[in-house]
Amino acid sequence: MDFNDSEEEASWREECRSWMEEHAPAVVSGSAADDTRVGAAAYLARAKQWQAMKFDAGFAKITWEREYGGRNGTTMQQIIFGQEESRFSVPAEAFVIGLGMIAPTLRAVGTDAQKAQYLNKLLRGEQVWCQLFSEPGAGSDVASLSTTATRDGDEWVINGQKVWTSGAQYSDYGEIICRTDPDAEKHRGITAFIVDMKAPGVVIKPLKQMNGGASFSEVFFDDVRVASSNVLGDVDQGWNVAITTLMNERVAIGSGGGGGMRTSISDLISLAQKRERNLDPLVRQRLADLYIHTRVQRFVGMRSLTAASKGKVPGPEGSIGKLSGARIATALGDLAVGLTGVSAIAGDDDTLAVGQSLLMAPAAHIAGGSDEVMKNIIGERVLGLPREPRVDKGVSWRSVPRSA
Ligand SMILES: Cc1cc2nc3c(=O)[nH]c(=O)nc-3n(C[C@H](O)[C@H](O)[C@H](O)COP(=O)(O)OP(=O)(O)OC[C@H]3O[C@@H](n4cnc5c(N)ncnc54)[C@H](O)[C@@H]3O)c2cc1C
Repeated sequence: MDFNDSEEEASWREECRSWMEEHAPAVVSGSAADDTRVGAAAYLARAKQWQAMKFDAGFAKITWEREYGGRNGTTMQQIIFGQEESRFSVPAEAFVIGLGMIAPTLRAVGTDAQKAQYLNKLLRGEQVWCQLFSEPGAGSDVASLSTTATRDGDEWVINGQKVWTSGAQYSDYGEIICRTDPDAEKHRGITAFIVDMKAPGVVIKPLKQMNGGASFSEVFFDDVRVASSNVLGDVDQGWNVAITTLMNERVAIGSGGGGGMRTSISDLISLAQKRERNLDPLVRQRLADLYIHTRVQRFVGMRSLTAASKGKVPGPEGSIGKLSGARIATALGDLAVGLTGVSAIAGDDDTLAVGQSLLMAPAAHIAGGSDEVMKNIIGERVLGLPREPRVDKGVSWRSVPRSA
Protein backbone atom coordinates (compact mmCIF):
# COMPACT_ATOMS: atom_id res chain seq x y z
CA MET A 1 0.00 0.00 0.00
CA ASP A 2 1.41 3.38 -0.98
CA PHE A 3 -0.32 6.51 0.31
CA ASN A 4 1.67 8.95 -1.83
CA ASP A 5 1.05 9.96 -5.44
CA SER A 6 3.56 8.71 -7.98
CA GLU A 7 5.20 11.45 -10.07
CA GLU A 8 2.69 10.81 -12.85
CA GLU A 9 -0.27 10.85 -10.44
CA ALA A 10 0.95 14.09 -8.84
CA SER A 11 1.09 15.78 -12.23
CA TRP A 12 -2.43 14.53 -13.10
CA ARG A 13 -3.68 15.79 -9.70
CA GLU A 14 -2.20 19.19 -10.49
CA GLU A 15 -3.96 19.20 -13.89
CA CYS A 16 -7.31 18.32 -12.27
CA ARG A 17 -6.83 20.82 -9.46
CA SER A 18 -6.06 23.75 -11.74
CA TRP A 19 -9.01 22.88 -14.03
CA MET A 20 -11.29 22.70 -11.00
CA GLU A 21 -9.99 25.99 -9.60
CA GLU A 22 -10.62 27.70 -12.92
CA HIS A 23 -14.06 26.22 -13.69
CA ALA A 24 -15.77 25.16 -10.44
CA PRO A 25 -16.42 28.68 -9.11
CA ALA A 26 -18.94 29.21 -11.97
CA VAL A 27 -21.31 26.68 -10.43
CA VAL A 28 -20.37 26.48 -6.75
CA SER A 29 -23.16 27.73 -4.52
CA GLY A 30 -22.84 29.72 -1.31
CA SER A 31 -23.97 26.67 0.56
CA ALA A 32 -24.14 22.98 -0.22
CA ALA A 33 -27.65 23.03 1.29
CA ASP A 34 -28.92 25.30 -1.49
CA ASP A 35 -30.55 22.45 -3.36
CA THR A 36 -33.24 22.30 -0.71
CA ARG A 37 -33.69 26.07 -0.57
CA VAL A 38 -33.66 27.43 -4.12
CA GLY A 39 -35.69 24.59 -5.55
CA ALA A 40 -34.95 21.69 -7.84
CA ALA A 41 -35.12 23.66 -11.11
CA ALA A 42 -32.31 26.10 -10.29
CA TYR A 43 -30.24 23.32 -8.78
CA LEU A 44 -30.73 21.11 -11.81
CA ALA A 45 -29.76 23.87 -14.23
CA ARG A 46 -26.45 24.35 -12.38
CA ALA A 47 -25.91 20.58 -12.21
CA LYS A 48 -26.44 20.20 -15.98
CA GLN A 49 -24.13 23.14 -16.70
CA TRP A 50 -21.43 21.55 -14.54
CA GLN A 51 -21.80 18.10 -16.13
CA ALA A 52 -21.57 19.56 -19.65
CA MET A 53 -18.38 21.43 -18.67
CA LYS A 54 -16.87 18.21 -17.33
CA PHE A 55 -17.89 16.25 -20.43
CA ASP A 56 -16.44 18.82 -22.81
CA ALA A 57 -13.13 18.78 -20.89
CA GLY A 58 -13.01 14.93 -20.95
CA PHE A 59 -13.60 14.51 -17.20
CA ALA A 60 -17.08 12.89 -17.33
CA LYS A 61 -15.80 9.27 -17.38
CA ILE A 62 -12.05 9.31 -17.45
CA THR A 63 -11.59 5.52 -17.81
CA TRP A 64 -14.07 5.11 -20.67
CA GLU A 65 -13.56 4.81 -24.42
CA ARG A 66 -13.57 8.03 -26.42
CA GLU A 67 -16.69 6.99 -28.38
CA TYR A 68 -18.73 7.23 -25.16
CA GLY A 69 -17.15 10.49 -24.06
CA GLY A 70 -14.22 9.11 -22.08
CA ARG A 71 -10.48 9.58 -22.49
CA ASN A 72 -9.12 6.02 -22.01
CA GLY A 73 -7.61 7.08 -18.68
CA THR A 74 -6.78 4.92 -15.65
CA THR A 75 -8.89 4.09 -12.58
CA MET A 76 -6.38 5.99 -10.48
CA GLN A 77 -6.86 9.11 -12.64
CA GLN A 78 -10.63 8.80 -12.13
CA ILE A 79 -10.16 8.47 -8.36
CA ILE A 80 -7.81 11.47 -8.22
CA PHE A 81 -10.26 13.61 -10.20
CA GLY A 82 -13.04 12.53 -7.79
CA GLN A 83 -10.89 13.53 -4.81
CA GLU A 84 -10.16 16.95 -6.30
CA GLU A 85 -13.80 17.50 -7.27
CA SER A 86 -14.95 16.67 -3.74
CA ARG A 87 -12.98 19.68 -2.44
CA PHE A 88 -15.55 21.96 -4.14
CA SER A 89 -19.24 22.17 -3.42
CA VAL A 90 -20.21 21.55 -7.06
CA PRO A 91 -23.76 20.34 -7.82
CA ALA A 92 -22.90 16.75 -8.78
CA GLU A 93 -25.62 14.92 -6.82
CA ALA A 94 -28.16 14.78 -9.67
CA PHE A 95 -25.77 12.57 -11.66
CA VAL A 96 -24.45 10.26 -8.96
CA ILE A 97 -26.99 7.56 -9.89
CA GLY A 98 -27.00 8.05 -13.67
CA LEU A 99 -23.25 8.33 -14.08
CA GLY A 100 -22.07 6.27 -11.14
CA MET A 101 -24.47 3.33 -11.39
CA ILE A 102 -26.61 3.28 -14.52
CA ALA A 103 -24.11 4.36 -17.19
CA PRO A 104 -21.70 1.51 -16.22
CA THR A 105 -24.66 -0.92 -16.34
CA LEU A 106 -25.72 0.30 -19.80
CA ARG A 107 -22.15 -0.03 -20.99
CA ALA A 108 -21.87 -3.57 -19.58
CA VAL A 109 -25.21 -5.06 -20.64
CA GLY A 110 -26.89 -2.58 -23.04
CA THR A 111 -27.42 -3.34 -26.72
CA ASP A 112 -25.43 -1.29 -29.26
CA ALA A 113 -28.63 0.65 -30.03
CA GLN A 114 -29.21 1.43 -26.31
CA LYS A 115 -25.61 2.57 -25.85
CA ALA A 116 -25.81 4.80 -28.93
CA GLN A 117 -29.14 6.25 -27.84
CA TYR A 118 -28.37 7.00 -24.20
CA LEU A 119 -24.73 6.97 -23.13
CA ASN A 120 -23.47 10.23 -24.60
CA LYS A 121 -26.53 12.20 -23.46
CA LEU A 122 -26.24 10.68 -20.00
CA LEU A 123 -22.55 11.54 -19.69
CA ARG A 124 -23.09 15.10 -20.95
CA GLY A 125 -25.82 15.65 -18.36
CA GLU A 126 -28.56 16.12 -20.97
CA GLN A 127 -30.51 13.24 -19.37
CA VAL A 128 -31.03 12.54 -15.69
CA TRP A 129 -31.66 8.92 -14.68
CA CYS A 130 -32.96 7.26 -11.53
CA GLN A 131 -32.81 3.77 -10.03
CA LEU A 132 -36.17 2.07 -9.41
CA PHE A 133 -35.30 -0.96 -7.27
CA SER A 134 -36.68 -0.55 -3.71
CA GLU A 135 -40.35 -1.21 -2.97
CA PRO A 136 -42.44 -0.87 0.19
CA GLY A 137 -42.00 -4.64 0.79
CA ALA A 138 -38.53 -5.06 -0.77
CA GLY A 139 -35.56 -2.97 0.39
CA SER A 140 -32.67 -4.90 1.91
CA ASP A 141 -34.18 -8.00 0.32
CA VAL A 142 -34.81 -6.27 -3.01
CA ALA A 143 -34.95 -9.60 -4.92
CA SER A 144 -38.36 -10.24 -3.34
CA LEU A 145 -39.86 -7.33 -5.34
CA SER A 146 -43.50 -7.45 -6.50
CA THR A 147 -43.80 -4.89 -9.33
CA THR A 148 -44.77 -6.91 -12.40
CA ALA A 149 -44.02 -6.61 -16.11
CA THR A 150 -46.26 -8.64 -18.43
CA ARG A 151 -45.47 -9.21 -22.10
CA ASP A 152 -48.05 -7.87 -24.57
CA GLY A 153 -46.90 -8.41 -28.17
CA ASP A 154 -43.85 -6.24 -28.77
CA GLU A 155 -44.35 -4.36 -25.51
CA TRP A 156 -44.29 -4.98 -21.77
CA VAL A 157 -46.87 -3.59 -19.33
CA ILE A 158 -45.59 -2.52 -15.88
CA ASN A 159 -47.75 -2.38 -12.74
CA GLY A 160 -46.69 -1.79 -9.15
CA GLN A 161 -44.96 0.65 -6.80
CA LYS A 162 -41.37 1.69 -6.14
CA VAL A 163 -40.19 3.85 -3.23
CA TRP A 164 -37.18 5.92 -2.12
CA THR A 165 -36.44 6.70 -5.78
CA SER A 166 -33.81 9.46 -5.56
CA GLY A 167 -34.29 12.22 -8.12
CA ALA A 168 -37.42 10.59 -9.65
CA GLN A 169 -39.20 13.94 -9.87
CA TYR A 170 -36.61 15.40 -12.25
CA SER A 171 -35.45 12.23 -14.02
CA ASP A 172 -35.96 11.59 -17.72
CA TYR A 173 -35.40 7.82 -17.57
CA GLY A 174 -35.11 5.09 -14.97
CA GLU A 175 -33.65 1.62 -14.65
CA ILE A 176 -36.45 -0.51 -13.22
CA ILE A 177 -36.45 -4.16 -12.15
CA CYS A 178 -39.73 -6.09 -12.37
CA ARG A 179 -41.07 -9.57 -11.71
CA THR A 180 -41.56 -11.31 -15.07
CA ASP A 181 -41.77 -14.95 -13.91
CA PRO A 182 -43.47 -15.37 -10.50
CA ASP A 183 -43.04 -19.15 -10.66
CA ALA A 184 -39.25 -18.96 -10.59
CA GLU A 185 -37.13 -18.50 -7.42
CA LYS A 186 -37.00 -14.87 -6.29
CA HIS A 187 -33.60 -14.07 -7.85
CA ARG A 188 -34.70 -15.60 -11.14
CA GLY A 189 -37.73 -14.33 -13.05
CA ILE A 190 -36.72 -10.66 -12.70
CA THR A 191 -36.19 -8.47 -15.79
CA ALA A 192 -34.58 -5.01 -16.00
CA PHE A 193 -36.04 -2.30 -18.25
CA ILE A 194 -35.33 1.25 -19.32
CA VAL A 195 -38.47 3.24 -18.51
CA ASP A 196 -39.43 6.72 -19.67
CA MET A 197 -40.28 8.62 -16.48
CA LYS A 198 -42.68 10.88 -18.43
CA ALA A 199 -44.66 7.92 -19.91
CA PRO A 200 -48.45 7.76 -19.34
CA GLY A 201 -49.22 5.82 -16.14
CA VAL A 202 -46.08 6.91 -14.23
CA VAL A 203 -47.13 8.85 -11.10
CA ILE A 204 -44.40 10.41 -8.96
CA LYS A 205 -45.12 11.55 -5.41
CA PRO A 206 -42.16 13.23 -3.65
CA LEU A 207 -41.61 12.31 0.02
CA LYS A 208 -40.95 15.18 2.40
CA GLN A 209 -37.81 14.75 4.50
CA MET A 210 -36.99 16.12 7.93
CA ASN A 211 -34.33 18.44 6.44
CA GLY A 212 -37.04 20.26 4.46
CA GLY A 213 -36.08 18.74 1.10
CA ALA A 214 -37.74 16.02 -0.96
CA SER A 215 -34.91 14.23 -2.71
CA PHE A 216 -36.74 10.94 -3.18
CA SER A 217 -40.24 9.83 -4.18
CA GLU A 218 -42.78 7.07 -4.31
CA VAL A 219 -43.33 6.08 -7.94
CA PHE A 220 -46.50 4.29 -9.07
CA PHE A 221 -46.77 2.34 -12.33
CA ASP A 222 -50.25 1.89 -13.71
CA ASP A 223 -50.26 -0.05 -17.02
CA VAL A 224 -47.05 1.67 -18.16
CA ARG A 225 -46.04 0.41 -21.61
CA VAL A 226 -42.39 -0.24 -22.42
CA ALA A 227 -41.08 -1.38 -25.83
CA SER A 228 -39.22 -4.73 -25.96
CA SER A 229 -36.19 -2.82 -27.25
CA ASN A 230 -36.00 -1.29 -23.75
CA VAL A 231 -35.33 -4.61 -22.01
CA LEU A 232 -31.92 -4.26 -20.36
CA GLY A 233 -29.95 -7.50 -20.54
CA ASP A 234 -31.88 -10.74 -21.01
CA VAL A 235 -35.49 -11.44 -20.05
CA ASP A 236 -35.67 -13.12 -16.59
CA GLN A 237 -31.96 -12.39 -16.02
CA GLY A 238 -32.51 -8.96 -14.47
CA TRP A 239 -30.92 -9.91 -11.14
CA ASN A 240 -27.50 -9.99 -12.84
CA VAL A 241 -28.23 -6.54 -14.29
CA ALA A 242 -29.28 -5.28 -10.85
CA ILE A 243 -26.10 -6.67 -9.27
CA THR A 244 -24.01 -4.78 -11.86
CA THR A 245 -25.81 -1.58 -10.83
CA LEU A 246 -25.55 -2.32 -7.09
CA MET A 247 -21.82 -3.19 -7.34
CA ASN A 248 -21.27 0.25 -8.81
CA GLU A 249 -23.40 1.90 -6.11
CA ARG A 250 -20.92 1.46 -3.28
CA VAL A 251 -18.09 2.70 -5.49
CA ALA A 252 -20.22 5.77 -6.38
CA ILE A 253 -21.02 6.43 -2.70
CA GLY A 254 -17.45 5.64 -1.57
CA SER A 255 -15.85 7.98 -4.10
CA GLY A 256 -17.85 10.83 -2.55
CA GLY A 257 -19.57 11.57 -5.85
CA GLY A 258 -21.02 14.85 -4.74
CA GLY A 259 -23.58 13.41 -2.30
CA GLY A 260 -21.23 13.08 0.65
CA MET A 261 -21.24 14.81 3.96
CA ARG A 262 -22.24 18.44 4.28
CA THR A 263 -19.59 19.12 6.91
CA SER A 264 -16.09 17.67 7.00
CA ILE A 265 -13.70 17.12 9.90
CA SER A 266 -11.62 20.11 8.73
CA ASP A 267 -14.76 22.34 8.78
CA LEU A 268 -15.32 21.19 12.33
CA ILE A 269 -11.74 21.86 13.42
CA SER A 270 -11.99 25.39 11.93
CA LEU A 271 -15.23 25.94 13.83
CA ALA A 272 -13.57 24.86 17.09
CA GLN A 273 -10.48 26.98 16.41
CA LYS A 274 -12.67 30.09 16.11
CA ARG A 275 -13.78 29.47 19.69
CA GLU A 276 -10.58 30.57 21.32
CA ARG A 277 -12.09 30.49 24.77
CA ASN A 278 -14.63 28.29 26.51
CA LEU A 279 -13.94 25.18 24.45
CA ASP A 280 -15.45 22.41 26.51
CA PRO A 281 -12.75 19.78 27.26
CA LEU A 282 -15.27 17.10 26.26
CA VAL A 283 -15.64 18.73 22.84
CA ARG A 284 -11.86 18.69 22.51
CA GLN A 285 -11.84 14.96 23.27
CA ARG A 286 -14.69 14.16 20.88
CA LEU A 287 -12.99 16.16 18.16
CA ALA A 288 -9.72 14.27 18.63
CA ASP A 289 -11.62 10.98 18.69
CA LEU A 290 -13.47 11.84 15.48
CA TYR A 291 -10.24 12.96 13.84
CA ILE A 292 -8.73 9.53 14.61
CA HIS A 293 -11.79 7.77 13.15
CA THR A 294 -11.64 9.80 9.94
CA ARG A 295 -7.93 8.95 9.59
CA VAL A 296 -8.63 5.24 10.12
CA GLN A 297 -11.42 5.38 7.57
CA ARG A 298 -9.09 7.08 5.10
CA PHE A 299 -6.59 4.25 5.49
CA VAL A 300 -9.31 1.61 5.00
CA GLY A 301 -10.34 3.54 1.87
CA MET A 302 -6.71 3.38 0.71
CA ARG A 303 -7.07 -0.42 0.52
CA SER A 304 -9.89 0.01 -2.02
CA LEU A 305 -7.86 2.62 -3.89
CA THR A 306 -4.82 0.35 -3.97
CA ALA A 307 -6.98 -2.55 -5.24
CA ALA A 308 -8.51 -0.25 -7.87
CA SER A 309 -5.12 1.06 -9.01
CA LYS A 310 -4.06 -2.58 -9.57
CA GLY A 311 -7.24 -3.28 -11.56
CA LYS A 312 -8.82 -5.44 -8.79
CA VAL A 313 -12.43 -5.28 -7.65
CA PRO A 314 -12.60 -3.84 -4.09
CA GLY A 315 -13.49 -6.55 -1.54
CA PRO A 316 -15.62 -6.53 1.65
CA GLU A 317 -13.53 -3.63 2.99
CA GLY A 318 -16.05 -1.53 1.03
CA SER A 319 -18.66 -2.54 3.65
CA ILE A 320 -16.31 -1.59 6.50
CA GLY A 321 -15.78 1.83 4.89
CA LYS A 322 -19.53 2.29 4.31
CA LEU A 323 -20.35 1.35 7.93
CA SER A 324 -17.70 3.54 9.51
CA GLY A 325 -18.52 6.41 7.09
CA ALA A 326 -22.12 6.41 8.34
CA ARG A 327 -21.00 6.46 11.98
CA ILE A 328 -18.63 9.33 11.25
CA ALA A 329 -21.43 11.24 9.46
CA THR A 330 -23.64 11.02 12.57
CA ALA A 331 -20.82 11.95 14.97
CA LEU A 332 -19.75 14.87 12.76
CA GLY A 333 -23.29 16.25 12.51
CA ASP A 334 -23.84 15.88 16.23
CA LEU A 335 -20.61 17.63 17.20
CA ALA A 336 -21.01 20.33 14.52
CA VAL A 337 -24.44 21.26 15.85
CA GLY A 338 -23.04 21.19 19.39
CA LEU A 339 -20.43 23.75 18.35
CA THR A 340 -22.73 26.09 16.41
CA GLY A 341 -25.70 25.81 18.77
CA VAL A 342 -28.91 27.53 17.75
CA SER A 343 -27.39 29.04 14.58
CA ALA A 344 -27.52 25.55 13.06
CA ILE A 345 -31.26 26.16 12.57
CA ALA A 346 -31.42 29.97 12.51
CA GLY A 347 -28.09 31.18 11.18
CA ASP A 348 -26.38 32.10 7.93
CA ASP A 349 -25.72 29.75 5.00
CA ASP A 350 -22.58 28.27 6.57
CA THR A 351 -24.15 27.40 9.91
CA LEU A 352 -27.35 26.16 8.23
CA ALA A 353 -25.20 23.70 6.27
CA VAL A 354 -24.03 22.41 9.66
CA GLY A 355 -27.65 21.77 10.69
CA GLN A 356 -28.22 19.95 7.40
CA SER A 357 -25.26 17.67 8.10
CA LEU A 358 -27.01 16.35 11.23
CA LEU A 359 -30.39 15.97 9.52
CA MET A 360 -28.88 14.10 6.56
CA ALA A 361 -26.75 11.74 8.68
CA PRO A 362 -29.42 9.02 9.21
CA ALA A 363 -29.61 8.53 5.41
CA ALA A 364 -25.98 7.39 5.41
CA HIS A 365 -26.95 4.45 7.66
CA ILE A 366 -29.57 3.21 5.17
CA ALA A 367 -28.83 4.28 1.57
CA GLY A 368 -26.75 1.82 -0.44
CA GLY A 369 -27.36 -0.94 2.15
CA SER A 370 -28.20 -0.53 5.84
CA ASP A 371 -25.71 -0.83 8.71
CA GLU A 372 -27.12 -4.25 9.63
CA VAL A 373 -26.73 -5.52 6.08
CA MET A 374 -23.12 -4.27 6.04
CA LYS A 375 -22.52 -6.11 9.32
CA ASN A 376 -23.96 -9.29 7.79
CA ILE A 377 -21.54 -8.97 4.86
CA ILE A 378 -18.59 -8.37 7.20
CA GLY A 379 -19.70 -11.28 9.43
CA GLU A 380 -20.05 -13.71 6.55
CA ARG A 381 -17.31 -12.60 4.17
CA VAL A 382 -14.64 -11.22 6.49
CA LEU A 383 -15.13 -13.19 9.72
CA GLY A 384 -16.29 -16.39 8.00
CA LEU A 385 -19.38 -16.79 10.23
CA PRO A 386 -22.24 -19.11 9.15
CA ARG A 387 -24.52 -17.58 6.51
CA GLU A 388 -27.96 -16.23 7.43
CA PRO A 389 -30.75 -18.85 7.16
CA ARG A 390 -32.76 -18.52 3.89
CA VAL A 391 -36.35 -19.70 4.17
CA ASP A 392 -37.10 -18.88 0.51
CA LYS A 393 -34.27 -20.91 -1.05
CA GLY A 394 -35.43 -23.37 -3.71
CA VAL A 395 -39.00 -22.03 -3.49
CA SER A 396 -40.86 -20.14 -6.23
CA TRP A 397 -41.42 -16.41 -5.55
CA ARG A 398 -45.19 -16.93 -5.83
CA SER A 399 -45.28 -19.46 -2.97
CA VAL A 400 -43.32 -17.35 -0.44
CA PRO A 401 -45.79 -15.84 2.09
CA ARG A 402 -45.83 -12.02 2.01
CA SER A 403 -48.20 -9.27 3.04
CA ALA A 404 -50.56 -8.00 0.33
C1 LIG B 1 -31.10 8.65 1.04
C2 LIG B 1 -31.63 7.38 0.42
C3 LIG B 1 -31.68 7.28 -0.96
C4 LIG B 1 -32.17 6.12 -1.56
N1 LIG B 1 -32.25 6.08 -2.93
C5 LIG B 1 -32.75 4.98 -3.54
C6 LIG B 1 -32.91 4.95 -4.97
O1 LIG B 1 -32.59 5.90 -5.67
N2 LIG B 1 -33.44 3.84 -5.53
C7 LIG B 1 -33.82 2.75 -4.81
O2 LIG B 1 -34.24 1.77 -5.39
N3 LIG B 1 -33.71 2.77 -3.43
C8 LIG B 1 -33.19 3.85 -2.79
N4 LIG B 1 -33.09 3.88 -1.41
C9 LIG B 1 -33.61 2.75 -0.66
C10 LIG B 1 -32.56 1.92 0.05
O3 LIG B 1 -31.86 1.10 -0.85
C11 LIG B 1 -33.33 1.09 1.09
O4 LIG B 1 -33.88 2.01 2.03
C12 LIG B 1 -32.44 0.12 1.82
O5 LIG B 1 -32.02 -0.90 0.94
C13 LIG B 1 -33.16 -0.50 3.03
O6 LIG B 1 -34.42 -1.00 2.67
P1 LIG B 1 -35.73 -0.62 3.49
O7 LIG B 1 -35.77 0.85 3.67
O8 LIG B 1 -36.89 -1.28 2.81
O9 LIG B 1 -35.52 -1.27 4.90
P2 LIG B 1 -35.74 -2.80 5.30
O10 LIG B 1 -35.01 -3.67 4.35
O11 LIG B 1 -37.20 -3.05 5.49
O12 LIG B 1 -35.00 -2.84 6.68
C14 LIG B 1 -35.62 -2.39 7.89
C15 LIG B 1 -34.64 -2.64 9.02
O13 LIG B 1 -34.37 -4.05 9.10
C16 LIG B 1 -32.96 -4.29 9.02
N5 LIG B 1 -32.71 -5.52 8.26
C17 LIG B 1 -33.20 -5.84 7.04
N6 LIG B 1 -32.71 -7.04 6.65
C18 LIG B 1 -31.89 -7.47 7.63
C19 LIG B 1 -31.10 -8.65 7.82
N7 LIG B 1 -31.05 -9.59 6.88
N8 LIG B 1 -30.38 -8.74 8.96
C20 LIG B 1 -30.41 -7.79 9.91
N9 LIG B 1 -31.17 -6.65 9.81
C21 LIG B 1 -31.88 -6.51 8.68
C22 LIG B 1 -32.40 -3.09 8.27
O14 LIG B 1 -31.06 -2.87 8.59
C23 LIG B 1 -33.29 -1.96 8.79
O15 LIG B 1 -32.81 -1.49 10.03
C24 LIG B 1 -32.60 5.03 -0.78
C25 LIG B 1 -32.56 5.13 0.61
C26 LIG B 1 -32.09 6.29 1.22
C27 LIG B 1 -32.05 6.38 2.71
